Amino acid sequence: MSKLPDIDKDFAKWYQEVIYQAELADQAPVRGCIVIRPYGCAVWEEIKTYLDGRIKKNGAQNAIFPLLIPESFLKREAEHVEGFAPEVAVVTYAGGKKLEEPLVIRPTSETIVHHMFARWIKSWRDLPLKINQWANVVRWELRPRAFLRTTEFFWQEGHTAHETKEEAHSQVLTMLDEYAKLAEDMLAIPVIKGPKTEAEKFPGGETTYCFEAIMYDGKALQMGTSHLLAQGFAKSFEIMFQNREGKNAYPYLTSWGVTTRLVGAIIATHGDNKGLIIPPNIAPIQVVIVPIYKKGSSSEEINKKAQELKSSLKKIRVEVDSDESKSPGAKFYKWELKGVPIRIEVGPRDIENNQAVVVDRIENKKEFVPFDKLNKFIADKLEELHKSLFDRALKRQKERWHQGEKLSDFGPDMDKKSYCYQTGWCGCPECEVKLQKYKGSVRCILKENKHKECFGCSKESKSDVFVAKAY
Ligand SMILES: [Zn+2]
Repeated sequence: MSKLPDIDKDFAKWYQEVIYQAELADQAPVRGCIVIRPYGCAVWEEIKTYLDGRIKKNGAQNAIFPLLIPESFLKREAEHVEGFAPEVAVVTYAGGKKLEEPLVIRPTSETIVHHMFARWIKSWRDLPLKINQWANVVRWELRPRAFLRTTEFFWQEGHTAHETKEEAHSQVLTMLDEYAKLAEDMLAIPVIKGPKTEAEKFPGGETTYCFEAIMYDGKALQMGTSHLLAQGFAKSFEIMFQNREGKNAYPYLTSWGVTTRLVGAIIATHGDNKGLIIPPNIAPIQVVIVPIYKKGSSSEEINKKAQELKSSLKKIRVEVDSDESKSPGAKFYKWELKGVPIRIEVGPRDIENNQAVVVDRIENKKEFVPFDKLNKFIADKLEELHKSLFDRALKRQKERWHQGEKLSDFGPDMDKKSYCYQTGWCGCPECEVKLQKYKGSVRCILKENKHKECFGCSKESKSDVFVAKAY
């Protein structure tokens, strides 16, 4: 294994290398696709298990919709088809002949879900209807990057229908908050929430809310979205129900999703020159125990102790690396690369002294802990490490975050130094596109209104916006 590229000198190269070396994913034969290997899959599964529970708690049920959608479905919503057309893959030939109607591989499932909603929703008693699916989707990607941008990716997509707009809006915000909680409490990534601009919203929807984070290299990453679709799709797909007054009405719809991109966010937020750091709450392996064998003493006894320690660590995900063909140094290197939060070393002298050596992945601090205090010590340490990771990411975010007045002044620093800016905006798309000159974009609209004037013209600012270069 070659040494990782320096994270501060060539972040893009480091990012790519660490994914291969830590065995999160590998290249696939089709450009833009990746193979997610068991370790990467295990990280995603931890996220999935947590989020699936939250989604169900929120009243949604899981369902599975088909991968193939009639092309005509996509065309029913004009903005939707226009937004997705450049990324859609179409099946025109199957079963040995040309198809009468081409089928698209879902880029997202609104159209097929709404087609079914029209069959399932008849009365206000059928509402709210809340469906979620865990699935893969395809959006042709011209600038792929493992996990962050791939042609095929995995996600959950929630779809709901409500009697009133207020209820739909509240659903959208509830999910946005759930996602932010996932990012902060599980992934240790501080986020910035807010609505997207008209130009950046979901095609066919009314308002898109997003949550964004700032990565190690200063670029913003949209980590997920929650859309108020309102009634546009309901009208296109003729979803109608009898309301409480006995009249026909269209429901208000929402959709919301997060993807395997979250794994990319973890890599690009917490990593360092030794490799990944997986946040403790979603680490598939939270603790690795490395037995230290000494010449002249039996490895059997040490392995037995290691297994004993493993079973003493209740509710903690532990792996014992008892591969006797590898040196402790080689094992330390491997588990640091994979970002396991805590390493426990146990050798003959430790057994004599009734203690283990505990080393954390962030500070590399060594501590000696008596065996009978290990369980509590590790549980506390995992919590402490989560907090350290979060605080460190928040500190970096604050260092990157600047107040900007005029684009002509802050634009060059946004481009060259990857600084992020809070600035004023008049709300015009003409000013929004000016950001492209410095490779920036409006990531989201902020609640604050500190800045009097627009960054791009002399008009009054309607609200502050968060602008940055983005993935
Ligand atoms: Zn302006």
